[in-house]
Amino acid sequence: MSRLTAELVRERVRDTILERIGDTPLIPLHRVGAGLRGGLWAKIESANPGGSVKDRPALWMILDAEEEGRLRRRRIVLDATSGNTGVALAMVCAVRGYDLELCMPDKVSIERKRIARAFGAQLVLTDPLEGTDGAIREAQRRAAADPDRYVYVDQYSNLANPLSHELGTGAEIWKQTGGRVTHFVAGVGTSGTVVGVSRALRPKRVRIVAVQPDEALHGIEGWKHMPTALRPAIWDERVADVHRVMATDEAIAMTKRLAREEGIFTGPSGGAAVAAGIAVAREESGRIVVLIADGGERYLSTPLWE
Ligand code: PMP
Repeated sequence: MSRLTAELVRERVRDTILERIGDTPLIPLHRVGAGLRGGLWAKIESANPGGSVKDRPALWMILDAEEEGRLRRRRIVLDATSGNTGVALAMVCAVRGYDLELCMPDKVSIERKRIARAFGAQLVLTDPLEGTDGAIREAQRRAAADPDRYVYVDQYSNLANPLSHELGTGAEIWKQTGGRVTHFVAGVGTSGTVVGVSRALRPKRVRIVAVQPDEALHGIEGWKHMPTALRPAIWDERVADVHRVMATDEAIAMTKRLAREEGIFTGPSGGAAVAAGIAVAREESGRIVVLIADGGERYLSTPLWE
Protein backbone atom coordinates (compact mmCIF):
# COMPACT_ATOMS: atom_id res chain seq x y z
CA MET A 1 0.00 0.00 0.00
CA SER A 2 1.27 3.44 -0.91
CA ARG A 3 2.37 5.68 1.93
CA LEU A 4 1.48 8.82 -0.01
CA THR A 5 -0.96 11.36 1.38
CA ALA A 6 -2.05 14.68 -0.08
CA GLU A 7 0.07 16.44 2.61
CA LEU A 8 3.19 14.41 1.80
CA VAL A 9 2.80 15.09 -1.93
CA ARG A 10 2.40 18.82 -1.27
CA GLU A 11 5.49 18.78 0.92
CA ARG A 12 7.61 16.99 -1.70
CA VAL A 13 6.83 19.40 -4.54
CA ARG A 14 6.98 22.69 -2.66
CA ASP A 15 8.38 25.62 -4.65
CA THR A 16 8.31 23.83 -8.01
CA ILE A 17 5.85 23.94 -10.92
CA LEU A 18 4.55 20.58 -9.65
CA GLU A 19 2.83 22.24 -6.71
CA ARG A 20 0.35 23.64 -9.23
CA ILE A 21 -0.97 20.15 -10.03
CA GLY A 22 -4.57 19.71 -8.84
CA ASP A 23 -7.06 22.20 -7.37
CA THR A 24 -8.45 22.64 -10.88
CA PRO A 25 -11.53 24.82 -11.48
CA LEU A 26 -15.11 23.57 -11.41
CA ILE A 27 -17.14 25.58 -13.94
CA PRO A 28 -20.93 25.51 -14.47
CA LEU A 29 -22.02 24.74 -18.05
CA HIS A 30 -24.80 27.28 -18.65
CA ARG A 31 -25.50 26.87 -22.36
CA VAL A 32 -24.87 23.24 -23.29
CA GLY A 33 -26.62 22.34 -20.04
CA ALA A 34 -29.58 24.72 -20.61
CA GLY A 35 -33.01 23.29 -19.83
CA LEU A 36 -31.68 20.49 -17.66
CA ARG A 37 -33.14 20.12 -14.21
CA GLY A 38 -30.40 20.19 -11.59
CA GLY A 39 -27.10 21.40 -12.99
CA LEU A 40 -23.97 20.45 -14.86
CA TRP A 41 -20.40 21.41 -13.93
CA ALA A 42 -17.08 20.67 -15.64
CA LYS A 43 -13.86 19.92 -13.75
CA ILE A 44 -11.29 21.52 -16.03
CA GLU A 45 -8.21 19.30 -15.93
CA SER A 46 -6.46 21.17 -18.75
CA ALA A 47 -5.69 23.74 -16.02
CA ASN A 48 -2.98 21.43 -14.67
CA PRO A 49 0.54 22.67 -15.60
CA GLY A 50 1.17 19.72 -17.95
CA GLY A 51 -2.19 20.41 -19.61
CA SER A 52 -4.14 17.28 -18.63
CA VAL A 53 -5.65 15.16 -15.86
CA LYS A 54 -2.65 12.84 -16.17
CA ASP A 55 -0.42 15.26 -14.23
CA ARG A 56 -2.04 13.90 -11.08
CA PRO A 57 -1.24 10.19 -11.47
CA ALA A 58 2.15 10.95 -13.07
CA LEU A 59 3.21 12.92 -10.00
CA TRP A 60 1.86 10.40 -7.50
CA MET A 61 3.35 7.40 -9.34
CA ILE A 62 6.83 8.99 -9.44
CA LEU A 63 6.70 10.12 -5.80
CA ASP A 64 5.48 6.65 -4.83
CA ALA A 65 8.47 5.05 -6.60
CA GLU A 66 10.72 7.53 -4.75
CA GLU A 67 9.12 6.66 -1.41
CA GLU A 68 9.69 2.96 -2.08
CA GLY A 69 13.33 3.64 -2.95
CA ARG A 70 12.87 2.30 -6.50
CA LEU A 71 14.32 5.42 -8.14
CA ARG A 72 17.47 5.68 -6.05
CA ARG A 73 19.91 4.02 -8.40
CA ARG A 74 19.28 6.48 -11.21
CA ARG A 75 17.28 4.02 -13.24
CA ILE A 76 15.32 5.07 -16.34
CA VAL A 77 11.61 5.68 -15.88
CA LEU A 78 9.56 3.75 -18.49
CA ASP A 79 5.87 3.68 -19.42
CA ALA A 80 3.40 3.11 -22.24
CA THR A 81 0.98 5.94 -22.98
CA SER A 82 -1.44 7.30 -25.53
CA GLY A 83 0.13 10.70 -24.95
CA ASN A 84 -1.14 12.68 -22.00
CA THR A 85 0.55 10.48 -19.41
CA GLY A 86 3.72 10.76 -21.47
CA VAL A 87 3.62 14.55 -21.36
CA ALA A 88 2.82 14.50 -17.65
CA LEU A 89 5.56 12.00 -16.76
CA ALA A 90 8.01 13.98 -18.90
CA MET A 91 7.23 17.18 -16.99
CA VAL A 92 7.49 15.44 -13.60
CA CYS A 93 10.74 13.65 -14.55
CA ALA A 94 12.22 16.94 -15.81
CA VAL A 95 11.61 18.53 -12.40
CA ARG A 96 12.76 15.49 -10.38
CA GLY A 97 15.82 14.86 -12.58
CA TYR A 98 15.02 11.42 -14.07
CA ASP A 99 15.57 10.05 -17.56
CA LEU A 100 12.35 8.82 -19.19
CA GLU A 101 11.46 6.44 -22.05
CA LEU A 102 7.90 6.45 -23.40
CA CYS A 103 6.35 3.80 -25.63
CA MET A 104 3.61 5.45 -27.72
CA PRO A 105 1.59 4.25 -30.70
CA ASP A 106 2.76 6.22 -33.73
CA LYS A 107 -0.71 7.73 -34.20
CA VAL A 108 -0.87 10.00 -31.17
CA SER A 109 -1.08 13.64 -32.11
CA ILE A 110 2.21 15.32 -33.05
CA GLU A 111 1.61 17.84 -30.25
CA ARG A 112 1.91 15.15 -27.58
CA LYS A 113 5.08 13.73 -29.09
CA ARG A 114 6.71 17.14 -29.39
CA ILE A 115 5.75 18.31 -25.91
CA ALA A 116 7.05 15.07 -24.33
CA ARG A 117 10.31 15.50 -26.26
CA ALA A 118 10.51 19.16 -25.21
CA PHE A 119 10.54 17.98 -21.58
CA GLY A 120 13.43 15.65 -22.44
CA ALA A 121 11.68 12.28 -22.88
CA GLN A 122 12.93 9.59 -25.30
CA LEU A 123 10.10 8.23 -27.44
CA VAL A 124 9.76 4.64 -28.64
CA LEU A 125 7.09 4.73 -31.35
CA THR A 126 5.09 1.53 -31.82
CA ASP A 127 2.81 0.21 -34.59
CA PRO A 128 -0.17 2.59 -34.91
CA LEU A 129 -2.44 -0.31 -35.90
CA GLU A 130 -1.83 -1.97 -32.55
CA GLY A 131 -2.85 1.19 -30.67
CA THR A 132 -2.04 1.67 -27.01
CA ASP A 133 -1.98 -2.08 -26.49
CA GLY A 134 1.02 -2.36 -28.84
CA ALA A 135 2.79 0.33 -26.79
CA ILE A 136 1.98 -1.55 -23.57
CA ARG A 137 3.43 -4.78 -24.97
CA GLU A 138 6.61 -2.94 -26.03
CA ALA A 139 7.05 -1.39 -22.56
CA GLN A 140 6.50 -4.81 -20.94
CA ARG A 141 9.09 -6.35 -23.27
CA ARG A 142 11.68 -3.68 -22.43
CA ALA A 143 11.06 -3.85 -18.69
CA ALA A 144 11.31 -7.66 -18.71
CA ALA A 145 14.47 -7.69 -20.85
CA ASP A 146 16.34 -5.27 -18.59
CA PRO A 147 14.66 -4.99 -15.17
CA ASP A 148 17.66 -3.32 -13.48
CA ARG A 149 17.76 -0.55 -16.03
CA TYR A 150 14.11 0.47 -15.88
CA VAL A 151 11.52 1.54 -13.37
CA TYR A 152 8.38 0.49 -15.22
CA VAL A 153 5.66 2.83 -13.99
CA ASP A 154 2.78 0.80 -15.51
CA GLN A 155 -0.06 3.29 -15.11
CA TYR A 156 -2.57 0.50 -15.91
CA SER A 157 -1.62 -1.46 -12.77
CA ASN A 158 -0.14 1.22 -10.52
CA LEU A 159 -2.29 1.84 -7.42
CA ALA A 160 -0.84 5.34 -7.03
CA ASN A 161 -2.82 6.23 -10.19
CA PRO A 162 -6.33 5.81 -8.65
CA LEU A 163 -4.96 7.04 -5.30
CA SER A 164 -4.12 10.42 -6.87
CA HIS A 165 -7.79 10.73 -7.85
CA GLU A 166 -9.17 9.43 -4.57
CA LEU A 167 -7.19 11.87 -2.40
CA GLY A 168 -6.98 14.59 -5.10
CA THR A 169 -9.72 14.84 -7.76
CA GLY A 170 -12.52 13.23 -5.72
CA ALA A 171 -11.76 15.09 -2.50
CA GLU A 172 -11.59 18.40 -4.43
CA ILE A 173 -14.99 17.83 -6.07
CA TRP A 174 -16.56 17.14 -2.70
CA LYS A 175 -15.09 20.34 -1.28
CA GLN A 176 -15.83 22.50 -4.32
CA THR A 177 -19.50 21.48 -4.38
CA GLY A 178 -19.86 21.81 -0.61
CA GLY A 179 -20.84 18.14 -0.57
CA ARG A 180 -23.77 18.77 -2.96
CA VAL A 181 -22.54 16.74 -5.95
CA THR A 182 -24.91 13.85 -6.83
CA HIS A 183 -23.24 12.33 -9.92
CA PHE A 184 -19.69 12.07 -11.29
CA VAL A 185 -19.18 11.32 -14.99
CA ALA A 186 -15.83 10.44 -16.63
CA GLY A 187 -14.38 8.39 -19.45
CA VAL A 188 -12.33 5.27 -18.89
CA GLY A 189 -8.75 4.96 -20.14
CA THR A 190 -6.52 3.39 -17.51
CA SER A 191 -9.67 3.81 -15.33
CA GLY A 192 -7.62 5.59 -12.65
CA THR A 193 -9.98 8.58 -12.62
CA VAL A 194 -13.21 6.61 -12.25
CA VAL A 195 -11.78 4.08 -9.78
CA GLY A 196 -10.17 6.74 -7.56
CA VAL A 197 -13.05 9.23 -7.59
CA SER A 198 -15.44 6.37 -6.90
CA ARG A 199 -13.46 5.48 -3.75
CA ALA A 200 -13.72 9.08 -2.55
CA LEU A 201 -17.32 9.85 -3.47
CA ARG A 202 -19.33 6.64 -3.57
CA PRO A 203 -19.24 6.26 0.21
CA LYS A 204 -20.88 9.72 0.21
CA ARG A 205 -23.62 8.33 -2.04
CA VAL A 206 -22.51 10.07 -5.24
CA ARG A 207 -23.51 8.05 -8.32
CA ILE A 208 -20.52 7.16 -10.47
CA VAL A 209 -20.95 7.05 -14.27
CA ALA A 210 -18.19 5.39 -16.34
CA VAL A 211 -18.18 6.05 -20.09
CA GLN A 212 -16.49 4.07 -22.87
CA PRO A 213 -16.32 4.51 -26.63
CA ASP A 214 -19.18 2.71 -28.41
CA GLU A 215 -16.89 0.71 -30.69
CA ALA A 216 -13.35 -0.64 -30.95
CA LEU A 217 -12.26 1.72 -33.73
CA HIS A 218 -13.11 5.07 -32.19
CA GLY A 219 -11.70 8.59 -32.21
CA ILE A 220 -11.84 9.40 -28.50
CA GLU A 221 -8.12 9.62 -27.75
CA GLY A 222 -7.35 8.55 -24.19
CA TRP A 223 -10.44 6.32 -23.79
CA LYS A 224 -10.49 2.53 -23.98
CA HIS A 225 -13.07 0.18 -25.47
CA MET A 226 -12.75 -2.39 -22.71
CA PRO A 227 -14.38 -5.37 -24.47
CA THR A 228 -11.64 -5.37 -27.11
CA ALA A 229 -8.68 -3.85 -25.21
CA LEU A 230 -6.03 -5.16 -22.81
CA ARG A 231 -7.79 -4.92 -19.48
CA PRO A 232 -6.08 -2.57 -16.97
CA ALA A 233 -5.37 -4.40 -13.69
CA ILE A 234 -6.78 -1.45 -11.72
CA TRP A 235 -10.14 -1.56 -13.58
CA ASP A 236 -13.13 -2.95 -11.76
CA GLU A 237 -16.54 -2.28 -13.33
CA ARG A 238 -18.20 -2.57 -9.92
CA VAL A 239 -16.83 0.91 -9.00
CA ALA A 240 -19.46 2.49 -11.27
CA ASP A 241 -23.21 2.63 -10.71
CA VAL A 242 -23.90 3.32 -14.39
CA HIS A 243 -21.99 2.33 -17.54
CA ARG A 244 -22.58 4.26 -20.76
CA VAL A 245 -21.09 4.35 -24.24
CA MET A 246 -20.44 7.38 -26.43
CA ALA A 247 -20.14 7.68 -30.22
CA THR A 248 -17.18 9.59 -31.68
CA ASP A 249 -19.32 11.90 -33.86
CA GLU A 250 -21.48 12.94 -30.90
CA ALA A 251 -18.29 13.55 -28.89
CA ILE A 252 -16.85 15.76 -31.61
CA ALA A 253 -20.06 17.75 -32.02
CA MET A 254 -20.06 18.48 -28.26
CA THR A 255 -16.33 19.36 -28.32
CA LYS A 256 -17.15 22.09 -30.86
CA ARG A 257 -20.14 23.34 -28.89
CA LEU A 258 -18.05 23.58 -25.72
CA ALA A 259 -15.60 25.89 -27.48
CA ARG A 260 -18.23 28.12 -29.11
CA GLU A 261 -20.88 28.20 -26.42
CA GLU A 262 -18.94 27.85 -23.18
CA GLY A 263 -15.45 29.09 -24.11
CA ILE A 264 -14.06 25.72 -23.03
CA PHE A 265 -11.43 24.41 -25.42
CA THR A 266 -11.05 20.65 -25.11
CA GLY A 267 -10.54 17.54 -27.23
CA PRO A 268 -12.84 14.63 -28.15
CA SER A 269 -12.52 13.10 -24.68
CA GLY A 270 -13.84 16.26 -23.01
CA GLY A 271 -16.70 16.52 -25.52
CA ALA A 272 -17.54 12.84 -25.01
CA ALA A 273 -17.65 13.19 -21.23
CA VAL A 274 -19.91 16.28 -21.37
CA ALA A 275 -22.26 14.66 -23.93
CA ALA A 276 -22.51 11.66 -21.61
CA GLY A 277 -23.14 13.98 -18.64
CA ILE A 278 -26.02 15.62 -20.50
CA ALA A 279 -27.50 12.22 -21.34
CA VAL A 280 -27.33 11.30 -17.65
CA ALA A 281 -28.91 14.64 -16.66
CA ARG A 282 -31.88 13.96 -18.96
CA GLU A 283 -32.54 10.67 -17.21
CA GLU A 284 -31.67 11.44 -13.59
CA SER A 285 -31.64 15.06 -12.51
CA GLY A 286 -29.05 16.14 -9.99
CA ARG A 287 -25.88 18.13 -9.56
CA ILE A 288 -23.64 16.45 -12.09
CA VAL A 289 -19.87 16.90 -12.31
CA VAL A 290 -18.15 15.91 -15.55
CA LEU A 291 -14.38 15.58 -15.89
CA ILE A 292 -12.77 17.32 -18.88
CA ALA A 293 -9.42 15.56 -19.21
CA ASP A 294 -7.38 17.85 -21.48
CA GLY A 295 -7.32 20.94 -23.70
CA GLY A 296 -8.04 21.45 -27.39
CA GLU A 297 -4.51 22.63 -28.22
CA ARG A 298 -3.35 19.03 -28.01
CA TYR A 299 -5.45 18.25 -31.12
CA LEU A 300 -4.65 21.22 -33.37
CA SER A 301 -2.93 19.01 -35.94
CA THR A 302 -5.86 16.56 -36.12
CA PRO A 303 -8.91 16.99 -38.42
CA LEU A 304 -10.96 18.12 -35.39
CA TRP A 305 -10.39 21.86 -35.86
CA GLU A 306 -9.89 22.02 -39.64
N1 PMP B 1 -9.22 11.47 -21.59
C1 PMP B 1 -7.98 11.70 -22.03
C2 PMP B 1 -7.76 12.74 -23.07
C3 PMP B 1 -6.91 10.93 -21.52
O1 PMP B 1 -5.65 11.15 -21.97
C4 PMP B 1 -7.17 9.95 -20.55
C5 PMP B 1 -6.04 9.12 -20.00
N2 PMP B 1 -5.74 8.00 -20.80
C6 PMP B 1 -8.48 9.73 -20.14
C7 PMP B 1 -9.48 10.53 -20.66
C8 PMP B 1 -8.88 8.63 -19.18
O2 PMP B 1 -8.40 8.78 -17.87
P1 PMP B 1 -8.01 7.52 -17.00
O3 PMP B 1 -6.72 6.98 -17.54
O4 PMP B 1 -7.87 8.04 -15.62
O5 PMP B 1 -9.10 6.49 -17.12
